[in-house]
Amino acid sequence: MASKRDYYEILGVGRTASEQELKSAYRRLAHQHHPDKNQGDAHAEEKFKEAAEAYAVLSDTEQRSRYDRFGHAGVSSSAGAAWGAPGFGGIEDILGDLFGFGDVFNAAGRGGRRTTQQRGADLRYDLEISLEQAATGLTAQLRIPKLERCETCNGAGSAPGTRPETCQTCAGAGQVRFQQGFFSVSRTCGNCRGTGQVITSPCTDCRGQGRVEREKQIEVKIPAGVETGSRLRLQNEGESGAYGGPPGDLYVVIHVAEHDLFERQGNNLYSSVPVTFAQAALGAEIIVKTLNGEDSLKIPAGTQTGTVFRVRGQGMPVLGGRGRGDLFVSVSVVTPTMLTREQRKLLEQLERIETKDLEDKKLSEKVRDIFG
Ligand SMILES: [Zn+2]
Ligand SMILES: [Zn+2]
Repeated sequence: MASKRDYYEILGVGRTASEQELKSAYRRLAHQHHPDKNQGDAHAEEKFKEAAEAYAVLSDTEQRSRYDRFGHAGVSSSAGAAWGAPGFGGIEDILGDLFGFGDVFNAAGRGGRRTTQQRGADLRYDLEISLEQAATGLTAQLRIPKLERCETCNGAGSAPGTRPETCQTCAGAGQVRFQQGFFSVSRTCGNCRGTGQVITSPCTDCRGQGRVEREKQIEVKIPAGVETGSRLRLQNEGESGAYGGPPGDLYVVIHVAEHDLFERQGNNLYSSVPVTFAQAALGAEIIVKTLNGEDSLKIPAGTQTGTVFRVRGQGMPVLGGRGRGDLFVSVSVVTPTMLTREQRKLLEQLERIETKDLEDKKLSEKVRDIFG
């Protein structure tokens, strides 16, 4: 705090400087040290902030009088937090005037409203559907809250029977000039954003915005074959543009919910089906579930767990094309846990034969190892 420079000294004005003198001094310094023009120059940034702080205090009558009486101590609490903090009234207006920061600081409302036509925002709607719906396609009814063109003023923002008036700041030119030392700088008029006109009697239904918020119901045809991440673009179904500008687009983003039985990869589906030991060993015709119902599948004798069979044409339809993917069924042999007396007897009989088979096999492999 001890090294803090005097605010008047920073701005290079006398202690009796008028509001207008302070403002011009600040404009000149802000212009000179603005970060946009001095990128990476820490010294300039420091100067810029210093000037902003000094101006914030001195342009406020109450703070200025406290500063005059008590120096930095009189305003330290507010001045320390001044940069970018609330209650920092004038600065954004001035920056907006100087550098076209109007957009960032939302300067609407100062001296009338802007009438620039702007394209409406794009909207995104996330739609979750089932795998079955993705396979057949569907017609979805979406309810979308969005800004629609105000019918009262037909999107113009002016109350019916009134017209926007010529901007007084730029006299309708859309450009303003101001003197900056030896230079004359010309830039887009911040009051009317270069259109030369401002709305002086705003439409009451849309408060001069030309748009009102409404929930719109939209019917969307979702084609068969969509997958998670598929995006449908509905042209001009986004928000209406400001002041009669063109509307944005609506993007419907598809999310296909996980399915209990099927996993999807591209146009193919994957599932698994349990078979009994006897079916696997002897071969069988088994019933497999498909997305549409059921289909039969022949498995050969000696089928092992993990063997995958293809059921042609039971996958997902090709999006925007012909044909369908396939269904791949992985077979898992189920080991029984509860046996009836008869099953147990048969399995014990089987075990005796199999053990002998396995020993014969091992023996023959050994013999082969030795003589092979
Ligand atoms: Zn309106
Ligand atoms: Zn203007």
